Amino acid sequence: MMAGQPEISVVIPLYNEAESLPELHTALAAVLLPYADRWEVVFVDDGSTDGTFEVLKGLREGDKRVKAIRFRSNQGKSVALAAGFREAQGEIVVTLDADLQDDPKEIPRFLRKLAEGVDLVSGWKARRHDPWSRRLLSAIFNRVTSGLTGVKLHDFNCGFKAYRRSVIDELRLHGELHRFIPVLASWRGFKVGEIEVEHHPRKYGRSKYGAERIPR
Ligand code: UDP
Ligand code: MG
Repeated sequence: MMAGQPEISVVIPLYNEAESLPELHTALAAVLLPYADRWEVVFVDDGSTDGTFEVLKGLREGDKRVKAIRFRSNQGKSVALAAGFREAQGEIVVTLDADLQDDPKEIPRFLRKLAEGVDLVSGWKARRHDPWSRRLLSAIFNRVTSGLTGVKLHDFNCGFKAYRRSVIDELRLHGELHRFIPVLASWRGFKVGEIEVEHHPRKYGRSKYGAERIPR
């Protein structure tokens, strides 16, 4: 029997997130239960060395909605997202981080916002659980980006987003450009919206981003 085209694809970049994965998959399956087999998750293992891919293989064996891509080496989140987008088949594509800082429970709110006629919904971590130095840098980045581009978002760094397929098809990602997807989309005439999202502290592992990424 051929399964139909999924309505929703969830694309998740992972770099050494083995510990978070089972919990993440369970939370996704729970929140997407109403969609039965009409959703998929595309995990993109960005060159992990902690057994992430072995955990993915286990998940895939137990759930045919799970797809897994593996990079031989660490390519960075943008490249991982771009690979996930190429694989995703859904009319709607949701992206979120793998570390449970983004809560899958909030996916229905993103879908409702899309249903209002928005093409791209960007999350806004209004209360972030990250060190103050990172929050300060982010605040500066967000003000400058919003000012320079004219796109009125509070949080250009939020990995939690929902897109209509048309936006994905039209945009190509390069390097660190993933932060600017809402800008590119808005400039091309797509309707961009924002919703506040909860942000949890990291439970397992640690952030893959340190000071070295700032110049990029
Ligand atoms: N990530 C990735 N490749 C990288 C760095 C990070 O795929 O080179 C993933 C990571 O596994 C997570 C998401 O991107 O799912 C965000 O990374 P992280 O939580 O380290 O960033 P932070 O929340 O500290 O900004
Ligand atoms: Mg994180």
